[in-house]
Amino acid sequence: MTANLKIDSSPISAQGAFASRAFEPGETIHWMDGQFLPTWRIVAKIATLQVNFDDPLQVDDRTYLQLDEVSNRFNHSCAPNAAVRGARELFAIAPIAAGEEITFDYSLTVQPMLRARYWAMRCNCGAASCRGHIGDISTVPAGVRQAAIDRGGVQDHILHRLYRSPWNWTKFKPGPPPTLPGRDHSIFLKGGRTGVLLLHGLGGTPIEMGEVGASLAARGYTVLCPQLAGHCGTYADLKAVRWQDWAASAEAALRRLKATCDTVIIGGLSTGAVLSLNIAARFPNLVQGVALLAPTLWINGWAVPYHAYLFNIVLQKPIANMFDFPDLPPHGIKDEAIRRRVKAAMDSGDSSIAGVPVTPGGAVIEHRWMVKATLADLKWIKQPVLMVHPREDEIADLNNIAHIIRNVRGPVETITLHDSYHIVTVDRQRDELKHRLGAFVARLAARHTAESGGVADFGEAFAAKIAAQQ
Ligand SMILES: [Zn+2]
Repeated sequence: MTANLKIDSSPISAQGAFASRAFEPGETIHWMDGQFLPTWRIVAKIATLQVNFDDPLQVDDRTYLQLDEVSNRFNHSCAPNAAVRGARELFAIAPIAAGEEITFDYSLTVQPMLRARYWAMRCNCGAASCRGHIGDISTVPAGVRQAAIDRGGVQDHILHRLYRSPWNWTKFKPGPPPTLPGRDHSIFLKGGRTGVLLLHGLGGTPIEMGEVGASLAARGYTVLCPQLAGHCGTYADLKAVRWQDWAASAEAALRRLKATCDTVIIGGLSTGAVLSLNIAARFPNLVQGVALLAPTLWINGWAVPYHAYLFNIVLQKPIANMFDFPDLPPHGIKDEAIRRRVKAAMDSGDSSIAGVPVTPGGAVIEHRWMVKATLADLKWIKQPVLMVHPREDEIADLNNIAHIIRNVRGPVETITLHDSYHIVTVDRQRDELKHRLGAFVARLAARHTAESGGVADFGEAFAAKIAAQQ
Protein backbone atom coordinates (compact mmCIF):
# COMPACT_ATOMS: atom_id res chain seq x y z
CA MET A 1 0.00 0.00 0.00
CA THR A 2 2.31 2.71 1.25
CA ALA A 3 4.76 1.69 -1.47
CA ASN A 4 2.32 3.42 -3.85
CA LEU A 5 2.09 6.61 -1.81
CA LYS A 6 4.00 9.19 0.08
CA ILE A 7 2.67 11.91 2.31
CA ASP A 8 4.03 15.38 1.64
CA SER A 9 3.07 19.02 1.96
CA SER A 10 0.36 19.99 -0.48
CA PRO A 11 -0.73 23.27 -2.09
CA ILE A 12 -4.38 22.30 -1.42
CA SER A 13 -4.21 21.56 2.29
CA ALA A 14 -1.42 21.23 4.83
CA GLN A 15 -0.59 17.73 3.65
CA GLY A 16 -1.58 15.49 0.80
CA ALA A 17 -1.00 12.00 -0.60
CA PHE A 18 1.35 11.78 -3.58
CA ALA A 19 1.94 8.99 -6.05
CA SER A 20 5.32 7.36 -5.60
CA ARG A 21 4.92 5.61 -8.96
CA ALA A 22 2.86 6.14 -12.11
CA PHE A 23 -0.72 4.83 -12.31
CA GLU A 24 -2.77 3.87 -15.35
CA PRO A 25 -6.43 4.89 -15.51
CA GLY A 26 -8.51 2.19 -13.80
CA GLU A 27 -5.66 1.01 -11.60
CA THR A 28 -6.25 0.58 -7.86
CA ILE A 29 -4.27 3.12 -5.86
CA HIS A 30 -5.35 2.44 -2.30
CA TRP A 31 -7.99 0.65 -0.26
CA MET A 32 -9.42 3.28 2.06
CA ASP A 33 -9.07 1.92 5.55
CA GLY A 34 -9.59 2.74 9.19
CA GLN A 35 -12.25 1.94 11.72
CA PHE A 36 -15.69 0.84 10.55
CA LEU A 37 -18.41 2.52 12.60
CA PRO A 38 -22.20 2.58 12.42
CA THR A 39 -23.77 5.96 11.62
CA TRP A 40 -24.79 6.73 15.19
CA ARG A 41 -21.23 6.27 16.47
CA ILE A 42 -19.90 8.65 13.84
CA VAL A 43 -22.57 11.22 14.67
CA ALA A 44 -21.68 10.91 18.34
CA LYS A 45 -17.99 11.33 17.60
CA ILE A 46 -18.59 14.42 15.48
CA ALA A 47 -20.90 15.91 18.13
CA THR A 48 -18.21 15.45 20.77
CA LEU A 49 -15.51 16.83 18.45
CA GLN A 50 -13.57 13.57 18.35
CA VAL A 51 -13.52 13.60 14.56
CA ASN A 52 -13.86 16.34 11.98
CA PHE A 53 -17.08 16.69 10.09
CA ASP A 54 -15.50 16.03 6.73
CA ASP A 55 -13.18 13.17 7.69
CA PRO A 56 -15.30 9.98 7.77
CA LEU A 57 -15.99 8.23 4.48
CA GLN A 58 -19.37 6.59 4.09
CA VAL A 59 -19.04 3.02 2.76
CA ASP A 60 -22.60 1.76 2.85
CA ASP A 61 -26.05 2.81 3.98
CA ARG A 62 -25.29 2.31 7.64
CA THR A 63 -21.52 2.37 7.92
CA TYR A 64 -18.79 4.96 7.93
CA LEU A 65 -15.08 4.54 7.86
CA GLN A 66 -13.17 6.71 10.29
CA LEU A 67 -10.18 7.00 8.02
CA ASP A 68 -6.71 6.05 9.17
CA GLU A 69 -3.65 8.34 8.88
CA VAL A 70 -2.93 7.54 5.23
CA SER A 71 -6.49 7.27 3.90
CA ASN A 72 -7.32 10.63 5.45
CA ARG A 73 -4.52 12.42 3.60
CA PHE A 74 -6.17 12.45 0.15
CA ASN A 75 -7.35 15.98 -0.62
CA HIS A 76 -10.45 17.03 -2.46
CA SER A 77 -10.25 18.47 -5.94
CA CYS A 78 -13.01 19.60 -8.30
CA ALA A 79 -10.77 18.27 -11.10
CA PRO A 80 -9.60 15.02 -9.50
CA ASN A 81 -7.35 12.29 -10.87
CA ALA A 82 -8.86 9.51 -8.70
CA ALA A 83 -12.25 8.35 -7.46
CA VAL A 84 -13.73 5.81 -5.04
CA ARG A 85 -15.59 2.80 -6.42
CA GLY A 86 -17.30 -0.18 -4.80
CA ALA A 87 -17.25 0.68 -1.15
CA ARG A 88 -13.74 2.01 -0.55
CA GLU A 89 -11.42 1.32 -3.46
CA LEU A 90 -9.55 4.43 -4.60
CA PHE A 91 -8.55 4.13 -8.24
CA ALA A 92 -7.01 6.32 -10.94
CA ILE A 93 -9.41 7.98 -13.39
CA ALA A 94 -6.61 9.62 -15.38
CA PRO A 95 -2.96 8.78 -15.99
CA ILE A 96 -1.08 9.77 -12.84
CA ALA A 97 2.64 10.50 -12.96
CA ALA A 98 5.02 9.65 -10.13
CA GLY A 99 5.14 12.59 -7.73
CA GLU A 100 1.69 13.91 -8.64
CA GLU A 101 -0.77 14.64 -5.82
CA ILE A 102 -3.70 12.19 -5.74
CA THR A 103 -7.11 13.79 -5.23
CA PHE A 104 -10.73 12.74 -5.45
CA ASP A 105 -14.01 14.63 -5.51
CA TYR A 106 -15.38 14.50 -1.94
CA SER A 107 -18.85 15.56 -3.10
CA LEU A 108 -19.27 12.34 -5.07
CA THR A 109 -18.92 10.33 -1.84
CA VAL A 110 -21.67 12.08 0.11
CA GLN A 111 -25.28 10.92 -0.19
CA PRO A 112 -27.89 13.64 -0.77
CA MET A 113 -28.90 14.98 2.62
CA LEU A 114 -32.04 16.74 3.75
CA ARG A 115 -30.15 19.90 4.41
CA ALA A 116 -27.10 19.76 2.22
CA ARG A 117 -26.39 23.41 2.91
CA TYR A 118 -25.33 22.55 6.44
CA TRP A 119 -22.53 20.53 5.00
CA ALA A 120 -20.82 22.83 2.57
CA MET A 121 -17.14 23.48 3.01
CA ARG A 122 -15.27 26.11 1.05
CA CYS A 123 -13.10 24.61 -1.66
CA ASN A 124 -9.50 25.66 -2.12
CA CYS A 125 -8.56 23.11 -4.73
CA GLY A 126 -7.31 25.69 -7.19
CA ALA A 127 -8.63 23.82 -10.26
CA ALA A 128 -9.86 25.93 -13.19
CA SER A 129 -13.23 24.19 -12.87
CA CYS A 130 -13.43 24.74 -9.09
CA ARG A 131 -17.02 24.89 -7.86
CA GLY A 132 -16.03 27.01 -4.84
CA HIS A 133 -17.59 24.68 -2.27
CA ILE A 134 -17.89 21.02 -1.37
CA GLY A 135 -21.39 19.72 -0.68
CA ASP A 136 -23.23 16.43 -1.11
CA ILE A 137 -23.67 14.71 -4.48
CA SER A 138 -26.79 16.76 -5.28
CA THR A 139 -24.60 19.88 -5.41
CA VAL A 140 -22.45 18.45 -8.21
CA PRO A 141 -23.42 19.65 -11.73
CA ALA A 142 -25.38 16.95 -13.58
CA GLY A 143 -22.77 16.61 -16.36
CA VAL A 144 -19.94 16.08 -13.89
CA ARG A 145 -21.98 13.54 -11.94
CA GLN A 146 -22.92 11.61 -15.08
CA ALA A 147 -19.32 11.53 -16.28
CA ALA A 148 -18.27 10.14 -12.89
CA ILE A 149 -20.95 7.43 -13.03
CA ASP A 150 -19.95 6.52 -16.59
CA ARG A 151 -16.36 5.91 -15.59
CA GLY A 152 -17.44 3.85 -12.57
CA GLY A 153 -16.20 6.43 -10.07
CA VAL A 154 -19.23 6.59 -7.77
CA GLN A 155 -19.61 4.29 -4.77
CA ASP A 156 -22.28 1.58 -4.72
CA HIS A 157 -24.16 3.02 -1.76
CA ILE A 158 -24.52 6.39 -3.53
CA LEU A 159 -25.84 4.77 -6.72
CA HIS A 160 -28.21 2.71 -4.64
CA ARG A 161 -29.50 5.78 -2.80
CA LEU A 162 -29.90 7.80 -5.99
CA TYR A 163 -31.44 5.28 -8.32
CA ARG A 164 -32.68 2.16 -6.58
CA SER A 165 -33.78 2.89 -3.06
CA PRO A 166 -37.44 3.74 -2.47
CA TRP A 167 -36.30 5.77 0.53
CA ASN A 168 -34.87 8.78 -1.25
CA TRP A 169 -36.60 11.31 0.96
CA THR A 170 -34.61 14.31 -0.19
CA LYS A 171 -36.03 16.55 -2.85
CA PHE A 172 -33.08 15.72 -5.07
CA LYS A 173 -34.14 13.82 -8.20
CA PRO A 174 -31.19 12.92 -10.37
CA GLY A 175 -33.26 11.83 -13.35
CA PRO A 176 -33.68 8.40 -14.93
CA PRO A 177 -31.12 5.81 -13.87
CA PRO A 178 -28.06 5.78 -16.11
CA THR A 179 -26.68 2.51 -17.37
CA LEU A 180 -24.48 1.46 -14.50
CA PRO A 181 -21.23 0.01 -15.69
CA GLY A 182 -20.53 -3.15 -13.71
CA ARG A 183 -17.01 -4.14 -12.79
CA ASP A 184 -15.78 -7.58 -13.58
CA HIS A 185 -13.93 -9.24 -10.70
CA SER A 186 -13.33 -12.48 -12.58
CA ILE A 187 -9.93 -14.10 -12.13
CA PHE A 188 -8.17 -15.39 -15.25
CA LEU A 189 -4.82 -17.18 -15.03
CA LYS A 190 -3.32 -18.16 -18.37
CA GLY A 191 -1.67 -21.56 -18.59
CA GLY A 192 -1.60 -24.60 -20.86
CA ARG A 193 -4.28 -26.32 -22.93
CA THR A 194 -6.00 -27.86 -19.92
CA GLY A 195 -8.45 -25.44 -18.37
CA VAL A 196 -10.28 -25.36 -15.07
CA LEU A 197 -13.41 -23.33 -14.60
CA LEU A 198 -14.15 -22.55 -10.93
CA LEU A 199 -17.57 -21.17 -9.97
CA HIS A 200 -18.09 -19.35 -6.69
CA GLY A 201 -21.03 -19.85 -4.34
CA LEU A 202 -24.29 -17.98 -3.81
CA GLY A 203 -23.55 -14.48 -2.56
CA GLY A 204 -19.84 -15.29 -2.91
CA THR A 205 -17.09 -13.89 -5.12
CA PRO A 206 -14.35 -15.18 -7.45
CA ILE A 207 -11.88 -14.46 -4.64
CA GLU A 208 -13.14 -17.43 -2.60
CA MET A 209 -11.90 -19.64 -5.47
CA GLY A 210 -8.70 -17.64 -5.93
CA GLU A 211 -6.28 -19.65 -3.80
CA VAL A 212 -7.37 -22.98 -5.24
CA GLY A 213 -7.25 -21.44 -8.72
CA ALA A 214 -3.73 -20.14 -8.15
CA SER A 215 -2.55 -23.60 -7.06
CA LEU A 216 -3.88 -25.08 -10.31
CA ALA A 217 -2.28 -22.28 -12.31
CA ALA A 218 1.01 -23.09 -10.59
CA ARG A 219 0.68 -26.59 -12.03
CA GLY A 220 0.43 -25.07 -15.49
CA TYR A 221 -3.30 -25.13 -16.09
CA THR A 222 -5.39 -22.27 -17.40
CA VAL A 223 -7.81 -21.15 -14.70
CA LEU A 224 -10.90 -18.98 -14.93
CA CYS A 225 -12.97 -17.99 -11.89
CA PRO A 226 -15.80 -15.95 -13.41
CA GLN A 227 -17.97 -13.47 -11.57
CA LEU A 228 -21.53 -14.80 -11.76
CA ALA A 229 -24.35 -12.45 -12.72
CA GLY A 230 -25.76 -10.41 -9.84
CA HIS A 231 -22.67 -10.90 -7.65
CA CYS A 232 -19.99 -8.52 -6.35
CA GLY A 233 -22.52 -5.70 -6.47
CA THR A 234 -25.31 -4.62 -4.20
CA TYR A 235 -28.00 -6.47 -2.29
CA ALA A 236 -30.48 -5.21 -4.90
CA ASP A 237 -28.48 -6.80 -7.73
CA LEU A 238 -28.61 -10.18 -6.03
CA LYS A 239 -32.31 -9.77 -5.34
CA ALA A 240 -33.09 -9.24 -9.03
CA VAL A 241 -30.87 -11.89 -10.64
CA ARG A 242 -32.24 -15.20 -11.99
CA TRP A 243 -30.47 -18.55 -11.92
CA GLN A 244 -30.53 -18.62 -15.71
CA ASP A 245 -28.32 -15.53 -15.56
CA TRP A 246 -25.80 -17.46 -13.43
CA ALA A 247 -25.90 -20.27 -15.97
CA ALA A 248 -25.33 -17.77 -18.79
CA SER A 249 -22.27 -16.35 -16.98
CA ALA A 250 -20.90 -19.86 -16.49
CA GLU A 251 -21.56 -20.83 -20.10
CA ALA A 252 -19.85 -17.70 -21.40
CA ALA A 253 -16.84 -18.47 -19.20
CA LEU A 254 -16.79 -22.07 -20.42
CA ARG A 255 -16.68 -20.92 -24.05
CA ARG A 256 -13.92 -18.46 -23.23
CA LEU A 257 -11.82 -21.27 -21.73
CA LYS A 258 -12.64 -23.63 -24.57
CA ALA A 259 -11.21 -21.13 -27.04
CA THR A 260 -7.68 -21.98 -25.85
CA CYS A 261 -8.13 -25.29 -23.99
CA ASP A 262 -8.73 -28.83 -25.28
CA THR A 263 -9.67 -30.26 -21.92
CA VAL A 264 -11.90 -28.37 -19.52
CA ILE A 265 -12.79 -29.39 -15.98
CA ILE A 266 -15.63 -27.48 -14.41
CA GLY A 267 -15.87 -27.11 -10.66
CA GLY A 268 -17.58 -25.01 -8.08
CA LEU A 269 -18.26 -24.36 -4.44
CA SER A 270 -21.70 -24.92 -2.86
CA THR A 271 -24.23 -23.36 -5.28
CA GLY A 272 -21.36 -23.11 -7.77
CA ALA A 273 -21.07 -26.91 -7.57
CA VAL A 274 -24.74 -27.29 -8.53
CA LEU A 275 -24.16 -24.87 -11.39
CA SER A 276 -21.18 -27.02 -12.50
CA LEU A 277 -23.45 -30.06 -12.66
CA ASN A 278 -25.98 -28.08 -14.64
CA ILE A 279 -23.39 -26.96 -17.21
CA ALA A 280 -21.68 -30.38 -17.40
CA ALA A 281 -25.01 -32.05 -18.14
CA ARG A 282 -25.93 -29.58 -20.85
CA PHE A 283 -22.53 -29.35 -22.56
CA PRO A 284 -21.09 -32.87 -22.40
CA ASN A 285 -18.75 -32.22 -25.33
CA LEU A 286 -17.25 -29.11 -23.79
CA VAL A 287 -16.70 -30.46 -20.28
CA GLN A 288 -14.38 -33.41 -19.54
CA GLY A 289 -14.68 -33.56 -15.76
CA VAL A 290 -16.60 -32.16 -12.82
CA ALA A 291 -15.22 -31.15 -9.41
CA LEU A 292 -17.81 -30.48 -6.73
CA LEU A 293 -16.75 -28.69 -3.56
CA ALA A 294 -19.35 -28.96 -0.79
CA PRO A 295 -22.19 -29.30 -3.31
CA THR A 296 -25.43 -27.92 -1.92
CA LEU A 297 -28.66 -29.30 -3.30
CA TRP A 298 -30.46 -28.81 -0.02
CA ILE A 299 -29.64 -26.30 2.67
CA ASN A 300 -29.87 -28.81 5.52
CA GLY A 301 -26.62 -28.73 7.50
CA TRP A 302 -26.40 -28.73 11.28
CA ALA A 303 -26.29 -24.93 11.62
CA VAL A 304 -29.42 -24.31 9.57
CA PRO A 305 -32.07 -23.06 12.03
CA TYR A 306 -35.38 -24.91 12.03
CA HIS A 307 -37.33 -21.82 10.98
CA ALA A 308 -35.27 -21.69 7.77
CA TYR A 309 -37.10 -24.85 6.68
CA LEU A 310 -40.36 -22.89 6.77
CA PHE A 311 -39.00 -20.98 3.78
CA ASN A 312 -39.62 -24.14 1.74
CA ILE A 313 -43.32 -23.33 1.61
CA VAL A 314 -42.57 -20.03 -0.16
CA LEU A 315 -43.09 -20.51 -3.88
CA GLN A 316 -43.01 -17.02 -5.37
CA LYS A 317 -40.02 -14.79 -5.81
CA PRO A 318 -41.60 -11.51 -4.63
CA ILE A 319 -42.61 -13.24 -1.41
CA ALA A 320 -39.21 -14.91 -1.14
CA ASN A 321 -37.62 -11.48 -1.40
CA MET A 322 -39.38 -10.45 1.80
CA PHE A 323 -37.00 -12.78 3.63
CA ASP A 324 -33.34 -12.29 4.37
CA PHE A 325 -30.71 -14.91 5.05
CA PRO A 326 -27.94 -13.33 7.08
CA ASP A 327 -24.59 -15.07 6.91
CA LEU A 328 -24.39 -16.31 10.51
CA PRO A 329 -21.44 -17.63 12.49
CA PRO A 330 -19.50 -19.83 11.84
CA HIS A 331 -19.69 -18.36 8.31
CA GLY A 332 -18.73 -21.70 6.80
CA ILE A 333 -15.30 -21.63 8.38
CA LYS A 334 -14.06 -23.80 11.22
CA ASP A 335 -10.72 -22.11 11.72
CA GLU A 336 -11.30 -19.12 13.98
CA ALA A 337 -8.40 -17.00 12.75
CA ILE A 338 -9.47 -17.42 9.12
CA ARG A 339 -13.08 -16.79 10.11
CA ARG A 340 -12.19 -13.45 11.75
CA ARG A 341 -10.42 -12.28 8.59
CA VAL A 342 -13.32 -13.25 6.33
CA LYS A 343 -15.84 -11.65 8.69
CA ALA A 344 -13.87 -8.38 8.67
CA ALA A 345 -13.82 -8.38 4.87
CA MET A 346 -17.54 -9.13 4.80
CA ASP A 347 -18.22 -6.20 7.09
CA SER A 348 -16.08 -3.89 5.00
CA GLY A 349 -19.05 -3.24 2.75
CA ASP A 350 -17.12 -4.35 -0.33
CA SER A 351 -19.06 -7.35 -1.61
CA SER A 352 -16.39 -8.11 -4.21
CA ILE A 353 -14.03 -9.45 -1.50
CA ALA A 354 -15.91 -11.75 0.84
CA GLY A 355 -19.39 -11.60 -0.60
CA VAL A 356 -22.57 -10.24 0.89
CA PRO A 357 -23.35 -10.45 4.64
CA VAL A 358 -27.05 -10.99 3.86
CA THR A 359 -28.50 -13.10 1.04
CA PRO A 360 -31.95 -12.07 -0.16
CA GLY A 361 -34.64 -14.78 -0.11
CA GLY A 362 -35.12 -14.24 -3.86
CA ALA A 363 -31.61 -15.56 -4.53
CA VAL A 364 -32.24 -18.55 -2.26
CA ILE A 365 -35.39 -19.46 -4.19
CA GLU A 366 -33.45 -19.12 -7.47
CA HIS A 367 -30.98 -21.61 -6.01
CA ARG A 368 -33.87 -23.99 -5.28
CA TRP A 369 -35.18 -23.64 -8.84
CA MET A 370 -31.73 -24.27 -10.29
CA VAL A 371 -31.43 -27.41 -8.13
CA LYS A 372 -34.79 -28.64 -9.41
CA ALA A 373 -33.75 -28.18 -13.04
CA THR A 374 -30.35 -29.77 -12.39
CA LEU A 375 -31.62 -32.84 -10.55
CA ALA A 376 -33.62 -33.78 -13.61
CA ASP A 377 -30.42 -33.60 -15.68
CA LEU A 378 -28.06 -35.57 -13.40
CA LYS A 379 -28.47 -38.71 -15.49
CA TRP A 380 -26.74 -36.97 -18.41
CA ILE A 381 -23.53 -36.58 -16.47
CA LYS A 382 -21.14 -39.23 -17.74
CA GLN A 383 -17.92 -37.34 -17.06
CA PRO A 384 -15.75 -38.32 -14.08
CA VAL A 385 -16.84 -36.51 -10.93
CA LEU A 386 -14.72 -35.55 -7.93
CA MET A 387 -16.59 -34.61 -4.77
CA VAL A 388 -15.05 -32.98 -1.74
CA HIS A 389 -17.39 -32.59 1.19
CA PRO A 390 -16.80 -31.74 4.85
CA ARG A 391 -18.21 -34.24 7.29
CA GLU A 392 -19.16 -31.35 9.55
CA ASP A 393 -20.62 -29.14 6.81
CA GLU A 394 -22.98 -26.77 8.63
CA ILE A 395 -24.87 -25.77 5.46
CA ALA A 396 -25.19 -28.95 3.42
CA ASP A 397 -25.47 -32.37 5.01
CA LEU A 398 -23.59 -35.39 3.63
CA ASN A 399 -26.83 -36.69 2.12
CA ASN A 400 -26.27 -34.11 -0.64
CA ILE A 401 -23.36 -36.10 -2.04
CA ALA A 402 -25.14 -39.42 -1.55
CA HIS A 403 -27.87 -38.19 -3.88
CA ILE A 404 -25.35 -37.15 -6.52
CA ILE A 405 -23.47 -40.45 -6.28
CA ARG A 406 -26.69 -42.36 -6.90
CA ASN A 407 -27.84 -40.29 -9.86
CA VAL A 408 -24.89 -39.38 -12.06
CA ARG A 409 -23.61 -41.94 -14.59
CA GLY A 410 -19.90 -41.12 -14.60
CA PRO A 411 -17.29 -42.54 -12.17
CA VAL A 412 -17.35 -40.73 -8.84
CA GLU A 413 -14.48 -40.14 -6.44
CA THR A 414 -15.39 -38.84 -3.00
CA ILE A 415 -13.21 -37.18 -0.42
CA THR A 416 -14.59 -36.42 3.02
CA LEU A 417 -12.85 -33.65 4.92
CA HIS A 418 -12.69 -34.16 8.66
CA ASP A 419 -11.53 -30.72 9.76
CA SER A 420 -13.37 -28.16 7.68
CA TYR A 421 -16.71 -26.42 7.39
CA HIS A 422 -18.65 -25.45 4.28
CA ILE A 423 -16.25 -22.96 2.65
CA VAL A 424 -13.67 -25.65 1.90
CA THR A 425 -11.62 -23.42 -0.43
CA VAL A 426 -10.70 -21.15 2.47
CA ASP A 427 -10.90 -23.34 5.59
CA ARG A 428 -8.24 -25.48 7.30
CA GLN A 429 -7.99 -28.34 4.83
CA ARG A 430 -7.62 -26.22 1.71
CA ASP A 431 -4.11 -27.56 1.08
CA GLU A 432 -5.44 -31.11 1.04
CA LEU A 433 -8.18 -29.91 -1.32
CA LYS A 434 -5.68 -28.23 -3.67
CA HIS A 435 -3.56 -31.39 -3.75
CA ARG A 436 -6.45 -33.76 -4.51
CA LEU A 437 -8.05 -31.45 -7.04
CA GLY A 438 -4.70 -30.97 -8.78
CA ALA A 439 -4.26 -34.75 -9.04
CA PHE A 440 -7.79 -35.16 -10.42
CA VAL A 441 -7.22 -32.53 -13.09
CA ALA A 442 -3.83 -34.02 -14.00
CA ARG A 443 -5.38 -37.47 -14.48
CA LEU A 444 -8.13 -36.18 -16.74
CA ALA A 445 -5.70 -34.03 -18.70
CA ALA A 446 -3.43 -37.03 -19.28
CA ARG A 447 -6.33 -39.23 -20.32
CA HIS A 448 -7.78 -36.70 -22.68
CA THR A 449 -4.41 -36.02 -24.24
CA ALA A 450 -3.82 -39.74 -24.76
CA GLU A 451 -7.24 -40.13 -26.38
CA SER A 452 -6.77 -37.22 -28.73
CA GLY A 453 -3.12 -38.08 -29.44
CA GLY A 454 -2.05 -34.61 -28.39
CA VAL A 455 0.98 -33.43 -26.54
CA ALA A 456 0.90 -33.34 -22.75
CA ASP A 457 1.20 -29.86 -21.30
CA PHE A 458 3.17 -28.61 -18.35
CA GLY A 459 0.33 -29.62 -16.00
CA GLU A 460 0.89 -33.30 -16.53
CA ALA A 461 4.65 -32.97 -16.39
CA PHE A 462 4.23 -31.39 -12.99
CA ALA A 463 1.80 -34.05 -11.85
CA ALA A 464 4.16 -36.81 -13.01
CA LYS A 465 6.96 -35.21 -11.02
CA ILE A 466 4.76 -35.07 -7.92
CA ALA A 467 3.71 -38.69 -8.45
CA ALA A 468 7.34 -39.76 -8.82
CA GLN A 469 8.22 -38.12 -5.52
CA GLN A 470 5.60 -40.05 -3.58
ZN1 LIG B 1 -12.66 23.10 -5.97
